[in-house]
Amino acid sequence: MGPMASSRRDLAVRASVDQGLLSPAEPVVALLDTAGIRASAAALTGAFAAVTDAPVLHAFAVKAAPLVPVLRLLHEAGIGAEVASPGELALARAAGVPPERTVLDSPAKTPDELRRALALGVAVNADNLQELDRLDALVAAAPTASPLGLRVNPQVGAGSIDALSTATATSKFGVALRDEGARKTVVQAYLDRPWLTRLHTHTGSQGVPLALMAQGVGEAYALAEEINRAAGRRQVDTLDIGGGLPVNFASDEETPTYAEYARLLADTVPGLFDGRYRLVTEFGRSLLAKHGTVLARVEYTKTSGGRPIAVTHAGVQLATRTVYAPGSWPLRVLAYDSEGRPRTGETAVQDVAGPACFAGDLIATARELPLLRPGDVVAVPDTGAYYFAHHYAYNSLPRPAIHGFDAAEDGTVAFTAVRRAQTPEEIVAEAGGDLADALVRPPDAPVRSRDGRKGAGRAEGDRPSGSAAPAPRLP
Ligand SMILES: *Cc1c(COP(=O)(O)O)cnc(C)c1O
Repeated sequence: MGPMASSRRDLAVRASVDQGLLSPAEPVVALLDTAGIRASAAALTGAFAAVTDAPVLHAFAVKAAPLVPVLRLLHEAGIGAEVASPGELALARAAGVPPERTVLDSPAKTPDELRRALALGVAVNADNLQELDRLDALVAAAPTASPLGLRVNPQVGAGSIDALSTATATSKFGVALRDEGARKTVVQAYLDRPWLTRLHTHTGSQGVPLALMAQGVGEAYALAEEINRAAGRRQVDTLDIGGGLPVNFASDEETPTYAEYARLLADTVPGLFDGRYRLVTEFGRSLLAKHGTVLARVEYTKTSGGRPIAVTHAGVQLATRTVYAPGSWPLRVLAYDSEGRPRTGETAVQDVAGPACFAGDLIATARELPLLRPGDVVAVPDTGAYYFAHHYAYNSLPRPAIHGFDAAEDGTVAFTAVRRAQTPEEIVAEAGGDLADALVRPPDAPVRSRDGRKGAGRAEGDRPSGSAAPAPRLP
């Protein structure tokens, strides 16, 4: 089994400094604990295997960690992919996740996106009745291997974070089941479409209590039973119960567990597991969050209004949610010295700031920590989902490198690159670097030649010196 998660993290911090991954020249990196991710994948598959013999596809919500090597690792651990955009589908394919282990769920799929998913055989959950109409035409036009479903919103209510509560009375997701006439319309939609064989719900994420999630799943199950009674056959053969298991950001404890949730489902929706339905799950944050850590060097320290502030390289670019909504997304900050050893000794109430140029760029305020010094390292744990993989390009701060690590029994740590750090050249390229002239000299605008005559367009060699390349013409 090797060292436990918190000691693996300590070893990795030390080794990051020792091996030069974190340095004055590269003052921020992100780490992924490979053994931890594997353990979470095994916990998930084991938890459901313990309560049902029904086939279960666990599809990782790619948005939680859109990194190809992570998707490949999960795929090898028996986990598929839930995607919600052409980009996420491309990531899943690049990782080798086969179409039959991929589920497409976006609320705004274009006709092209649907056509492509159906051609590939990727499962599709329609978000609404208009999308079902689109599917009618596509299914009639070409045969597809894609299992097709509809997302419903059981409207069971919100958790503690409104922005992540997907099953409120007015949520934008799915068909709102308790709205006037909606249930009847949904049942009829299934009766009219013999190919509609799945039912999907995702009741929430961080902040939604397990009991409320289970209630949402129960509502979907009851609807599937009602549809199948009305159809006189087992038309709905698969229930997609979504993801949403919350993450504990307060300590290293992994709670709640998949086993608890699976048992709760078995108790409250026993029919779900009796083998009549195939199951799909879509967990995201709970598979990755605890296994990611941001490491950043303290560049300077100061006091302001009497409060110590450590200015670090970890801020809004990596912890966007925490910086903008610290009440909903508190993160722990762990202090290490410049050699990556846990800092002990006298503590002080201090702020931990990021590098961005706005006053709110703080990852922790009034936090009691060993007094930080320049060159120290701060670690921000629990950032493996929806944090460093979701770069926010404020101040053109680069995407940091991400390294996977394995800590052996003897304490040695081996790193492998998961994503390279973004270079200044890449930042320029992604900021229209090859289109530098675009606004001063639109490609089709008549230009005056030096002798004052009007020309029909730009002549070769007419570019101001210093511009990299001509702006491409639209087709
Ligand atoms: C975001 C999302 C998930 C994953 O949610 P987590 O809270 O990360 O588990 C699953 N299904 C759908 C449809 C989602 O939008």
